[in-house]
Parts: sequence; structure tokens; C-alpha cells
Amino acid sequence: MRDQGRAPLLELKDVKTYFKVQGGLLKAVNGVSLTVHEGETIGLVGESGCGKSTLGKTVLRLLRPVGGQVLYEGKDIWAFDRKERKAYTRQVQMIFQDPYACLDPLSVIGDTVAEGMDVHRMHRDKQARGQEILRLLTDVGLNEGHAARFPHEFSGGQRQRVGIARALSLKPKLIVCDEPISALDVSIQAQVVNLLKKLQREMGMAYIFITHDLSMVRQISDRIAVMYLGNIVEIADSEDIYLSNRHPYTKALLSAIPIADPTVERTRERIVLTGDVPSPVNLPAGCAFAGRCPRACERCRQETPALREIEKGHQVACHLVE
Ligand code: SF4
Repeated sequence: MRDQGRAPLLELKDVKTYFKVQGGLLKAVNGVSLTVHEGETIGLVGESGCGKSTLGKTVLRLLRPVGGQVLYEGKDIWAFDRKERKAYTRQVQMIFQDPYACLDPLSVIGDTVAEGMDVHRMHRDKQARGQEILRLLTDVGLNEGHAARFPHEFSGGQRQRVGIARALSLKPKLIVCDEPISALDVSIQAQVVNLLKKLQREMGMAYIFITHDLSMVRQISDRIAVMYLGNIVEIADSEDIYLSNRHPYTKALLSAIPIADPTVERTRERIVLTGDVPSPVNLPAGCAFAGRCPRACERCRQETPALREIEKGHQVACHLVE
């Protein structure tokens, strides 16, 4: 859980990650500031193309931002020396959306799980390596017999467990989970989320949990950041996002979640967004959401709303809530 009294594990300060494309600059991440504390889970939500995966890659040091800073334990990740860089690649891991695509089909699962440990020479000898593989497989709900099998022999949920075991093998402090459950059946999604929560309780790592699915992210997140066109438009404790959200875009996203109770489902207000998402290459003046916002006014089309704290820990970028 978040410890506000302590320095954050990770801090993003006005991070901008742009790509050169035909016709200009694609501003995938356009000035994001965010903190992640030890043992905390931040849910990063938004529609496809809002920049959340680019932000994840920027944190992982796979993309270099054109502006701003990513600080890990207080130090800029692009100012690391060789030793610090190596430690960072060990301590900050990733779990992918499609576990099958990132498992070597010709390697047995035991070797796949141990790959990072082998690179970082984290085991004394073959026996210690074997024991560690077994421990990791057991931690994620697999067993010794799975170590000698190939990826094609596993179900989607089991493959995601292998992906988690591989990330855990390096004893990370932070795991970026990029849509880790969207390729799985709903029943398996809950199992994987519960497994991630259990492992976090036992090992204390932080997660950045990237997803477009607002129903499942509530179960795992301490705080949730809602992204729209490269910016965070609302961030708050998880329950506040669901119960006292203020940004029209957050409201629209939440109104699209199906509710199990048919009476509530029939009577609740559903906000259907019209209009197109503007191109991140040609962002409009003012609020980027104005073209789709049911409450947009003239000021919204001229002035960009800043992300402001409206209550302790609850920030919103909207002129309406000032
Ligand atoms: Fe809607 Fe205006 Fe708020 Fe933007 S600033 S979200 S357009 S009301």
C-alpha cells in the first residue's frame, strides 16, 4: 500500500514521449506527472491509443521521453551509470498482454522462467537454479511437472502465470502489467488478478496495471489514473474514482461497465460519447476532450484545463470542477 510519508519509488515529472510520423509529431504521452510508492498498485486506464502503453514503455526505459523526467528511487533513469542501469532492468519488470507471443515456443517453461536469472547470474549452481524454478512455478500456482513442458501445452491462463513467474524471478520492486488479463476469459481474469494481489501481499512489489477494462482494475488498484489523449485527466484513490468521480470522461467510461443487477442496469444513466477522438498529431486547442464532451462550453475550446487537486489525493483536469 501507498506510504505517503516516504519518497516515491517511481516519479514521473511532466513526461512527454513523442514519435515522428508522416505529417508531424505524434504526442503519445504529453506531460504526465505521476508517483508510484513501494507496494502500491496504480491502475492506468483509458481507451486504446490514449498513451498508456507508451507510458509503460517509457517507465521501462524502452522509450526515451523527449521532455520531463522519470525518477527511480530519486534518480533520473536516463542518468544511470552501467551498474544502476543493470539494477533497474532487474528491479523493474513487465508482464505482457499476450503471454504466448513472448514465450519461446522451442524452450521448455523452466528455461523460460530462468532466462532473466541466467542473464543476471542470480543462482549459485544448477541445483539452486532448479529449486528456484520450482519455487517460482509453485508461487504462481503451477508445479514441478510444468517445468519440462513447452508453451503450446499450456492454456492462456497458465501462460500468463508463466509470464508472472518470469517477471518475479528477478525479485522486482515494480512490475508494469500491460493489459495482462485482456486476452483471457473472464473467469481466468479474476484468477490472475487474485494471484497478482496475493503475490504483492507476500513480496511487496508495486504494480502499474495498464488496462482499458474499468471493471477489473478496481479489484487490484489502490489509485487509478484515467488517461485521455496522452494526459491524465483524473487520478484518485480507487474507490473515489468509482464513487465520486468528477471528470466527464471518467463518468462516460464508468457508465459503459455492465452491472450484474438487471434492475440497476435498466435504470442507470448511460453516457454515450459522440464525436471522434482527435488525432494526437494535430491536437485541438483547449481541452482535448471538448469535441466529445457532453458538457463542453466555449472556454473548453480555448483554454486547456490543468490537472488540479480538488480534494486530498484527487486531481481532475476539467474547467467544470474548478
Ligand atoms: Fe468537458 Fe470542458 Fe471539462 Fe473538457 S474542460 S472535460 S470539455 S467540461
